[in-house]
Amino acid sequence: MREVDLRSDTVTHPSPEMRRAMAEAELGDDVFGDDPTLNRLEAMAAERLGKEAAVFVASGTMGNLISILTHAGRGDEIIIGDKAHIFRSEAGGASALGGVAYNTLPNDNRGMLDLDQLEAAIKPPNVHFTRTAMIGLENTHNACGGAPLTADDTATVADIAHRHGVPLHVDGARIFNASVALETPVTELVKDADSVSFCLSKGLSCPIGSVVCGTEEFVQGARKWRKMVGGGMRQVGVIAAAGIVALDNMVERLNDDHATARRLAQGLAQIPGIDINPEALPTNLVFFKITGGDPALIMEEINRNGVKGGAAYGDWRFVTHYGIDSDDIDYALDVMDAACRKYATA
Ligand SMILES: *Cc1c(COP(=O)(O)O)cnc(C)c1O
Repeated sequence: MREVDLRSDTVTHPSPEMRRAMAEAELGDDVFGDDPTLNRLEAMAAERLGKEAAVFVASGTMGNLISILTHAGRGDEIIIGDKAHIFRSEAGGASALGGVAYNTLPNDNRGMLDLDQLEAAIKPPNVHFTRTAMIGLENTHNACGGAPLTADDTATVADIAHRHGVPLHVDGARIFNASVALETPVTELVKDADSVSFCLSKGLSCPIGSVVCGTEEFVQGARKWRKMVGGGMRQVGVIAAAGIVALDNMVERLNDDHATARRLAQGLAQIPGIDINPEALPTNLVFFKITGGDPALIMEEINRNGVKGGAAYGDWRFVTHYGIDSDDIDYALDVMDAACRKYATA
Protein backbone atom coordinates (compact mmCIF):
# COMPACT_ATOMS: atom_id res chain seq x y z
CA MET A 1 0.00 0.00 0.00
CA ARG A 2 1.19 3.51 -0.82
CA GLU A 3 1.90 5.70 2.19
CA VAL A 4 1.26 9.43 1.91
CA ASP A 5 2.23 11.28 5.07
CA LEU A 6 0.53 14.67 5.10
CA ARG A 7 0.83 15.32 8.85
CA SER A 8 3.70 17.78 8.62
CA ASP A 9 6.79 18.80 6.65
CA THR A 10 8.75 17.63 9.71
CA VAL A 11 8.33 14.03 8.46
CA THR A 12 10.78 14.66 5.60
CA HIS A 13 13.86 12.47 5.38
CA PRO A 14 17.30 13.72 4.30
CA SER A 15 18.04 13.55 0.56
CA PRO A 16 20.69 11.10 -0.74
CA GLU A 17 23.04 14.06 -1.19
CA MET A 18 22.51 15.06 2.45
CA ARG A 19 23.27 11.52 3.63
CA ARG A 20 26.52 11.51 1.64
CA ALA A 21 27.50 14.91 3.03
CA MET A 22 26.71 13.70 6.56
CA ALA A 23 28.83 10.57 6.14
CA GLU A 24 31.81 12.56 4.86
CA ALA A 25 31.54 15.65 7.10
CA GLU A 26 34.70 17.00 8.68
CA LEU A 27 34.15 17.18 12.44
CA GLY A 28 35.33 18.84 15.64
CA ASP A 29 34.01 19.68 19.09
CA ASP A 30 31.53 22.51 18.61
CA VAL A 31 31.48 23.53 22.29
CA PHE A 32 35.15 24.40 21.71
CA GLY A 33 34.14 26.14 18.45
CA ASP A 34 36.10 23.48 16.54
CA ASP A 35 33.61 21.90 14.18
CA PRO A 36 34.47 23.21 10.70
CA THR A 37 31.26 21.94 9.12
CA LEU A 38 29.08 23.60 11.73
CA ASN A 39 31.09 26.80 11.52
CA ARG A 40 30.50 26.79 7.77
CA LEU A 41 26.74 26.26 8.21
CA GLU A 42 26.48 29.10 10.74
CA ALA A 43 28.43 31.48 8.48
CA MET A 44 26.30 30.48 5.52
CA ALA A 45 23.04 30.92 7.44
CA ALA A 46 24.06 34.39 8.70
CA GLU A 47 24.92 35.40 5.16
CA ARG A 48 21.69 34.02 3.65
CA LEU A 49 19.63 35.93 6.21
CA GLY A 50 21.73 39.08 6.01
CA LYS A 51 22.68 39.00 9.69
CA GLU A 52 26.07 39.31 11.41
CA ALA A 53 26.07 35.92 13.10
CA ALA A 54 24.18 32.67 13.59
CA VAL A 55 23.97 29.82 16.09
CA PHE A 56 22.77 26.28 15.36
CA VAL A 57 20.19 24.79 17.74
CA ALA A 58 18.49 21.42 18.21
CA SER A 59 14.98 22.60 17.31
CA GLY A 60 12.81 25.56 16.40
CA THR A 61 11.45 25.56 19.94
CA MET A 62 14.97 25.83 21.35
CA GLY A 63 15.75 28.63 18.88
CA ASN A 64 12.74 30.68 19.94
CA LEU A 65 13.35 29.94 23.63
CA ILE A 66 16.97 31.10 23.66
CA SER A 67 16.05 34.13 21.55
CA ILE A 68 13.43 35.15 24.13
CA LEU A 69 15.79 34.46 27.03
CA THR A 70 18.43 36.64 25.36
CA HIS A 71 16.03 39.55 24.82
CA ALA A 72 13.96 39.29 28.02
CA GLY A 73 14.51 38.56 31.70
CA ARG A 74 12.46 37.66 34.76
CA GLY A 75 9.41 39.89 35.11
CA ASP A 76 9.65 41.15 31.53
CA GLU A 77 6.96 40.48 28.93
CA ILE A 78 6.98 39.65 25.25
CA ILE A 79 4.18 40.71 22.89
CA ILE A 80 3.16 38.01 20.42
CA GLY A 81 0.07 36.94 18.46
CA ASP A 82 -2.50 34.78 20.19
CA LYS A 83 -2.04 32.13 17.48
CA ALA A 84 1.76 32.25 17.59
CA HIS A 85 3.60 28.94 17.80
CA ILE A 86 5.66 30.49 20.62
CA PHE A 87 2.48 31.00 22.62
CA ARG A 88 0.50 27.89 21.71
CA SER A 89 2.97 25.13 20.98
CA GLU A 90 6.20 25.62 22.92
CA ALA A 91 5.02 24.36 26.31
CA GLY A 92 5.25 27.78 27.97
CA GLY A 93 9.06 27.56 28.03
CA ALA A 94 9.76 31.29 28.21
CA SER A 95 7.56 31.59 31.28
CA ALA A 96 8.58 28.31 32.95
CA LEU A 97 12.32 28.69 32.41
CA GLY A 98 12.75 32.45 32.08
CA GLY A 99 10.03 34.03 34.21
CA VAL A 100 8.90 35.90 31.10
CA ALA A 101 5.19 36.82 30.72
CA TYR A 102 3.32 36.44 27.43
CA ASN A 103 1.21 39.42 26.37
CA THR A 104 -0.89 38.26 23.41
CA LEU A 105 -2.70 40.32 20.79
CA PRO A 106 -5.18 38.88 18.27
CA ASN A 107 -3.58 37.62 15.07
CA ASP A 108 -5.58 38.49 11.94
CA ASN A 109 -6.16 35.78 9.32
CA ARG A 110 -2.69 36.37 7.79
CA GLY A 111 -0.95 36.23 11.15
CA MET A 112 -0.43 40.01 11.32
CA LEU A 113 -0.85 42.12 14.46
CA ASP A 114 -3.03 45.23 14.58
CA LEU A 115 -0.66 48.19 14.66
CA ASP A 116 -2.79 50.37 16.95
CA GLN A 117 -3.25 47.53 19.40
CA LEU A 118 0.48 46.88 19.30
CA GLU A 119 1.36 50.51 19.95
CA ALA A 120 -1.07 50.56 22.89
CA ALA A 121 0.23 47.27 24.32
CA ILE A 122 3.86 48.37 24.69
CA LYS A 123 4.36 49.33 28.34
CA PRO A 124 5.87 52.69 29.29
CA PRO A 125 8.47 52.57 32.08
CA ASN A 126 6.46 52.45 35.32
CA VAL A 127 6.97 50.60 38.57
CA HIS A 128 3.60 48.86 38.12
CA PHE A 129 4.32 47.40 34.70
CA THR A 130 6.21 44.52 33.19
CA ARG A 131 8.91 45.73 30.81
CA THR A 132 8.09 44.99 27.16
CA ALA A 133 11.31 43.27 26.13
CA MET A 134 10.47 41.69 22.76
CA ILE A 135 7.84 41.69 20.03
CA GLY A 136 7.41 38.53 17.99
CA LEU A 137 6.10 37.81 14.49
CA GLU A 138 5.78 34.44 12.75
CA ASN A 139 6.51 33.98 9.02
CA THR A 140 4.95 31.97 7.45
CA HIS A 141 2.21 31.84 10.05
CA ASN A 142 1.48 28.21 10.85
CA ALA A 143 -1.92 28.56 12.55
CA CYS A 144 -3.04 31.29 10.11
CA GLY A 145 -3.09 29.10 7.03
CA GLY A 146 0.63 29.27 6.25
CA ALA A 147 0.30 32.89 5.16
CA PRO A 148 3.52 34.78 4.41
CA LEU A 149 4.10 38.25 5.82
CA THR A 150 5.64 40.73 3.39
CA ALA A 151 8.75 42.80 4.00
CA ASP A 152 6.42 45.79 4.48
CA ASP A 153 4.36 43.97 7.12
CA THR A 154 7.52 43.28 9.09
CA ALA A 155 8.84 46.82 8.57
CA THR A 156 5.67 48.42 9.99
CA VAL A 157 5.83 46.25 13.12
CA ALA A 158 9.59 46.84 13.45
CA ASP A 159 9.04 50.61 13.19
CA ILE A 160 6.74 50.59 16.19
CA ALA A 161 8.97 48.20 18.15
CA HIS A 162 12.13 50.19 17.51
CA ARG A 163 10.49 53.53 18.26
CA HIS A 164 9.96 52.12 21.76
CA GLY A 165 13.43 50.56 21.92
CA VAL A 166 12.00 47.04 21.80
CA PRO A 167 13.66 44.32 19.64
CA LEU A 168 11.67 42.36 17.04
CA HIS A 169 12.08 38.58 16.79
CA VAL A 170 10.80 36.70 13.75
CA ASP A 171 9.91 33.03 14.22
CA GLY A 172 10.77 32.12 10.66
CA ALA A 173 10.41 28.35 10.99
CA ARG A 174 9.16 28.44 7.35
CA ILE A 175 10.72 31.76 6.26
CA PHE A 176 12.07 30.17 3.06
CA ASN A 177 8.51 29.13 2.13
CA ALA A 178 7.52 32.78 2.55
CA SER A 179 10.45 33.87 0.42
CA VAL A 180 9.69 31.60 -2.54
CA ALA A 181 5.93 32.25 -2.30
CA LEU A 182 6.41 36.04 -2.36
CA GLU A 183 9.40 35.89 -4.73
CA THR A 184 11.20 38.10 -2.23
CA PRO A 185 14.73 37.41 -0.96
CA VAL A 186 14.82 36.20 2.64
CA THR A 187 17.19 39.06 3.48
CA GLU A 188 14.38 41.49 2.57
CA LEU A 189 11.81 39.64 4.67
CA VAL A 190 13.95 39.76 7.82
CA LYS A 191 15.97 42.94 7.33
CA ASP A 192 14.09 44.77 10.08
CA ALA A 193 14.17 41.87 12.55
CA ASP A 194 16.71 41.94 15.38
CA SER A 195 16.68 38.16 15.60
CA VAL A 196 15.23 35.40 13.48
CA SER A 197 15.02 31.63 13.79
CA PHE A 198 14.41 29.20 10.95
CA CYS A 199 13.98 25.43 10.73
CA LEU A 200 16.18 23.15 8.66
CA SER A 201 14.07 20.16 9.66
CA LYS A 202 10.81 21.11 7.92
CA GLY A 203 10.49 21.86 4.21
CA LEU A 204 14.28 22.00 3.89
CA SER A 205 14.24 18.27 4.79
CA CYS A 206 17.13 18.03 7.25
CA PRO A 207 16.77 15.38 9.96
CA ILE A 208 17.47 17.82 12.82
CA GLY A 209 18.08 21.45 13.47
CA SER A 210 17.23 25.13 13.38
CA VAL A 211 19.36 28.26 13.21
CA VAL A 212 19.04 31.56 15.08
CA CYS A 213 20.51 34.68 13.45
CA GLY A 214 21.15 38.23 14.67
CA THR A 215 23.91 40.60 15.67
CA GLU A 216 27.25 39.27 17.01
CA GLU A 217 26.28 40.46 20.46
CA PHE A 218 22.86 38.83 20.37
CA VAL A 219 24.25 35.53 19.11
CA GLN A 220 26.91 35.53 21.83
CA GLY A 221 24.15 35.85 24.41
CA ALA A 222 22.08 33.16 22.69
CA ARG A 223 25.04 30.76 22.74
CA LYS A 224 25.26 31.07 26.49
CA TRP A 225 21.53 30.35 26.88
CA ARG A 226 21.84 27.43 24.47
CA LYS A 227 24.55 25.96 26.72
CA MET A 228 22.34 26.49 29.78
CA VAL A 229 19.37 24.66 28.30
CA GLY A 230 21.58 21.74 27.31
CA GLY A 231 21.93 22.57 23.64
CA GLY A 232 25.73 22.67 23.44
CA MET A 233 26.52 19.80 21.06
CA ARG A 234 29.83 18.20 20.13
CA GLN A 235 30.59 16.67 16.68
CA VAL A 236 27.49 18.35 15.36
CA GLY A 237 28.92 18.64 11.84
CA VAL A 238 27.25 15.29 11.11
CA ILE A 239 23.92 17.10 11.10
CA ALA A 240 25.19 20.53 10.03
CA ALA A 241 26.40 18.92 6.78
CA ALA A 242 22.76 18.28 5.84
CA GLY A 243 21.96 21.93 6.60
CA ILE A 244 24.58 23.13 4.12
CA VAL A 245 23.08 20.94 1.39
CA ALA A 246 19.62 22.24 2.37
CA LEU A 247 20.58 25.90 1.99
CA ASP A 248 22.30 25.18 -1.32
CA ASN A 249 19.77 22.84 -2.93
CA MET A 250 16.46 22.59 -1.11
CA VAL A 251 15.16 26.16 -1.10
CA GLU A 252 13.99 26.65 -4.70
CA ARG A 253 12.21 23.29 -4.67
CA LEU A 254 9.79 24.61 -2.02
CA ASN A 255 7.94 25.95 -5.09
CA ASP A 256 7.11 22.30 -5.88
CA ASP A 257 5.53 21.88 -2.44
CA HIS A 258 3.42 24.98 -2.99
CA ALA A 259 2.30 23.62 -6.38
CA THR A 260 1.35 20.21 -4.93
CA ALA A 261 -0.49 21.99 -2.10
CA ARG A 262 -2.47 23.96 -4.67
CA ARG A 263 -3.39 20.77 -6.56
CA LEU A 264 -4.37 19.10 -3.31
CA ALA A 265 -6.58 22.04 -2.31
CA GLN A 266 -8.25 22.18 -5.72
CA GLY A 267 -8.95 18.43 -5.56
CA LEU A 268 -10.32 18.62 -2.01
CA ALA A 269 -12.67 21.41 -3.09
CA GLN A 270 -14.31 18.92 -5.51
CA ILE A 271 -15.11 16.42 -2.75
CA PRO A 272 -18.59 16.68 -1.20
CA GLY A 273 -18.47 17.28 2.55
CA ILE A 274 -15.21 19.24 2.53
CA ASP A 275 -15.19 22.97 3.20
CA ILE A 276 -12.12 24.64 1.73
CA ASN A 277 -11.28 27.85 -0.07
CA PRO A 278 -8.69 26.72 -2.63
CA GLU A 279 -7.85 30.35 -3.43
CA ALA A 280 -6.66 31.01 0.12
CA LEU A 281 -3.58 28.89 -0.25
CA PRO A 282 -0.34 30.75 -0.01
CA THR A 283 2.27 28.06 0.77
CA ASN A 284 2.49 24.37 1.74
CA LEU A 285 -0.13 24.22 4.52
CA VAL A 286 -3.64 23.18 3.42
CA PHE A 287 -6.38 23.86 5.98
CA PHE A 288 -9.99 22.69 5.60
CA LYS A 289 -13.04 21.44 7.48
CA ILE A 290 -14.94 18.17 7.25
CA THR A 291 -18.61 19.18 7.17
CA GLY A 292 -20.28 16.16 5.57
CA GLY A 293 -19.52 13.36 8.02
CA ASP A 294 -17.80 12.32 11.26
CA PRO A 295 -14.19 13.51 10.99
CA ALA A 296 -12.98 10.82 13.41
CA LEU A 297 -14.37 8.02 11.19
CA ILE A 298 -13.04 9.63 8.03
CA MET A 299 -9.62 10.02 9.61
CA GLU A 300 -9.52 6.34 10.64
CA GLU A 301 -10.54 5.31 7.13
CA ILE A 302 -7.85 7.35 5.37
CA ASN A 303 -5.20 6.26 7.88
CA ARG A 304 -6.16 2.60 7.19
CA ASN A 305 -5.54 3.34 3.52
CA GLY A 306 -2.09 4.81 4.06
CA VAL A 307 -2.93 8.51 4.06
CA LYS A 308 -1.57 9.87 7.32
CA GLY A 309 -3.17 12.99 8.76
CA GLY A 310 -6.56 14.31 9.82
CA ALA A 311 -8.11 15.25 13.13
CA ALA A 312 -11.03 13.89 15.17
CA TYR A 313 -12.42 17.41 15.54
CA GLY A 314 -11.61 20.97 14.49
CA ASP A 315 -9.72 22.06 11.38
CA TRP A 316 -7.77 19.58 9.30
CA ARG A 317 -4.28 20.46 8.12
CA PHE A 318 -2.48 18.64 5.31
CA VAL A 319 1.13 19.61 4.63
CA THR A 320 3.04 19.02 1.39
CA HIS A 321 6.80 18.45 1.37
CA TYR A 322 9.85 16.79 -0.23
CA GLY A 323 8.34 13.32 0.36
CA ILE A 324 5.14 14.07 -1.60
CA ASP A 325 4.88 13.99 -5.40
CA SER A 326 1.91 14.50 -7.69
CA ASP A 327 1.05 10.74 -7.75
CA ASP A 328 0.83 10.91 -3.95
CA ILE A 329 -1.62 13.79 -4.28
CA ASP A 330 -3.77 11.81 -6.73
CA TYR A 331 -3.78 8.85 -4.35
CA ALA A 332 -4.60 11.01 -1.30
CA LEU A 333 -7.48 12.65 -3.17
CA ASP A 334 -8.91 9.25 -4.21
CA VAL A 335 -8.69 8.01 -0.61
CA MET A 336 -10.27 11.19 0.76
CA ASP A 337 -13.06 11.07 -1.81
CA ALA A 338 -13.87 7.42 -1.01
CA ALA A 339 -13.75 8.02 2.76
CA CYS A 340 -15.98 11.10 2.59
CA ARG A 341 -18.53 9.20 0.48
CA LYS A 342 -18.43 6.14 2.73
CA TYR A 343 -19.13 8.16 5.86
CA ALA A 344 -21.32 10.88 4.34
CA THR A 345 -24.19 11.96 6.56
CA ALA A 346 -27.31 12.74 4.51
C1 LIG B 1 7.59 23.89 13.84
C2 LIG B 1 7.57 25.29 14.31
C3 LIG B 1 8.40 25.71 15.36
C4 LIG B 1 9.20 24.76 16.24
O1 LIG B 1 9.95 23.83 15.65
P1 LIG B 1 10.39 22.47 16.38
O2 LIG B 1 11.64 22.17 15.63
O3 LIG B 1 9.29 21.51 16.14
O4 LIG B 1 10.65 22.74 17.81
C5 LIG B 1 8.39 27.05 15.69
N1 LIG B 1 7.60 27.91 15.04
C6 LIG B 1 6.79 27.54 14.04
C7 LIG B 1 5.97 28.57 13.35
C8 LIG B 1 6.73 26.21 13.64
O5 LIG B 1 5.91 25.85 12.66
